[in-house]
Amino acid sequence: MALSEFELIDIIRQECTLASADVVLGNGDDAAVLQVPPGQHLVACTDMLIAGRHFPLDTAPEDIGWKALAVNVSDLAAMGARPAWCLLALSLPSPDAEWLRAFARGFAELAVQHQIALVGGDTTRGPLSVTVTALGLVPAGSALTRAGAAVGDRVLICGRLGWAAAGLSLRLGGALAAGASDPAGSPAAQWIDALNRPVPLVAAGQALRGIASSAIDISDGLLADLGHVLRASGVGAELRVEQMPGHSELRQQLGSERARDCMLAGGDDYALCFTVPVERVDDALAALQASGAGQVADIGCICAGSGVVVLDAMGQAINLERRGWDHFG
Ligand code: ADP
Ligand code: MG
Repeated sequence: MALSEFELIDIIRQECTLASADVVLGNGDDAAVLQVPPGQHLVACTDMLIAGRHFPLDTAPEDIGWKALAVNVSDLAAMGARPAWCLLALSLPSPDAEWLRAFARGFAELAVQHQIALVGGDTTRGPLSVTVTALGLVPAGSALTRAGAAVGDRVLICGRLGWAAAGLSLRLGGALAAGASDPAGSPAAQWIDALNRPVPLVAAGQALRGIASSAIDISDGLLADLGHVLRASGVGAELRVEQMPGHSELRQQLGSERARDCMLAGGDDYALCFTVPVERVDDALAALQASGAGQVADIGCICAGSGVVVLDAMGQAINLERRGWDHFG
């Protein structure tokens, strides 16, 4: 029996039940009414995921649900914001209750972890695509931005680089079908997990408020995203490839060329890249540790000029131009 639009919306509501005191009027009216606490700024972002473009068509619905919210929460994290609310715009090729319930479960799993209330959305028929709008809060004036990196600052990464890209190449290379299981904890299983279940670094972003001079989450690859910071800040950067988090594991499995490709240009990492004045690096590390953030690595420094220079383990500059990355400068 075909489900109506309202039955579909009901399925989402049944799975995403988290209530929050700052929702004056939630899901079910023409629009939500939300209470922004005094002294806080509202931080808003939206990201769209299209089937076959942003995730393989046979990705499990739970993973699509998780990831659609995670990529948005990662943007809030990079601003130093605390996620508070979200909206979900869905276009579905067919009203499949089982698929939708699984999708909503994955979505709700992350929403509950970060106490994010789903306060509205839209549901239509069309090719599978998922657009989430995420709303968060920061103390007024304390949002982290891309624009504050200064010459001499260190460049740090929280999270891992290249693992999701390695996972995607396994999936696309056919070495691993959806749901195929590698032994838990194996590199392949960890990479696939990084691809399907990115962990937005919310606590880390908040810990860096007042300390980091700039921040960005890595969604399109380190070179592309750090490039945004460098342009916004009017500076350049020099990075060391062997200091990049996840590097040794990737190189062991893939060789140094492919490992480098994954780490520098892979994308889908949702790691946090941030800059810190040298004298505040210890404060940043202490704040990150206190926040429970995992791996943190110092991968280089901000320098005068523009663009990125990446040094290999021997201290030689890698020829990024030859690899087609010159436009990321
Ligand atoms: P309208 O026609 O006024 O836009 P809709 O019929 O689209 O209202 O939606 C009814 C209610 O259900 C609204 O409160 C809307 O925010 C909510 N809603 C619709 N689709 C979704 C969804 N995918 N996720 C969460 N809430 C949704
Ligand atoms: Mg609507």
